[in-house]
Amino acid sequence: MADLPSQWTHEPHHILQFRAGDKIADIDTDSSPGYTGDKDGSAEVQAERNERFAGLQEMLYANGKAGDSRSLLLVLQGMDTAGKGSIVKHVVGAGNPQGIQYTSFGVPTEEERAHHYLWRIRKALPAAGHIGVFDRSHYEDVLVVRVHELVPREVWEPRYDEINAFEEELVDSGTIVVKCAMFVSLDEQKRRLAERLDRPDRYWKYNPGDLDERKLWPAYQEAYQAVLDRTSTDHAPWFVIPCDKKWYTRLAINELLIEALKSMKLAWPPPGFDVEAEKKKLAQS
Ligand code: ADP
Repeated sequence: MADLPSQWTHEPHHILQFRAGDKIADIDTDSSPGYTGDKDGSAEVQAERNERFAGLQEMLYANGKAGDSRSLLLVLQGMDTAGKGSIVKHVVGAGNPQGIQYTSFGVPTEEERAHHYLWRIRKALPAAGHIGVFDRSHYEDVLVVRVHELVPREVWEPRYDEINAFEEELVDSGTIVVKCAMFVSLDEQKRRLAERLDRPDRYWKYNPGDLDERKLWPAYQEAYQAVLDRTSTDHAPWFVIPCDKKWYTRLAINELLIEALKSMKLAWPPPGFDVEAEKKKLAQS
């Protein structure tokens, strides 16, 4: 707990981790598990934690440059308006863009459809020393695909096991996988969509198709439950993030990233040259 802000009663990775038997229906999306503070004061904590994240992220990048092959993958999954974009902007955005690889996964292109569904995912995996951010992911292939019956059950059903094997291989090769399932309530989603329709600077975020997805909420809940039940593994567990409070969502995911980076036990890489000799040479130059 050493460098965790005092407002946290428990380490976020512990309190937010999905556990066998947990039910999505029981999630209080308006809660802020493990955090005793409220919105007032959260910006200050956030600013400090952004810096902490940025420092660790730069260290990961520096190590990558020095030959360390490890990396981190942040998977953001959630219904529209859950706040995926806000995490990218306000949490990951605090880092050094040189070491961030952001990818959003939309409806597959013709080329992508001609390949296995993991083809586009593998291409976007983070390089050594990088943090990869997946805004939606391979989980769409067992979420939207299942809900809309885009392929028959015999095709999507084996994907859970295939995804587990894929992620295990990824972790074994040195990538820490942080999977965040972001849950917003139906009412809060309505408020956020209404705001998009009220603000010209938010129209670009609005998609009329989002309303059709709202009608399928129960089917999505069922599909998300199956994802959590079947793909929360020891090597790549899911974290369940309540998302009605934007400030909490940011603090929680920021902290999960810090915890993951700290678990890598990073240090600044030693110089690949003689520092004193270089200083002398520089002085004489
Ligand atoms: P966002 O809605 O996240 O801002 P986009 O406008 O690009 O981003 O929309 C992404 C859409 O693509 C979502 O409706 C999502 O369900 C869909 N999508 C993503 N992956 C797949 C997939 N494998 N098959 C079908 N649809 C997908």
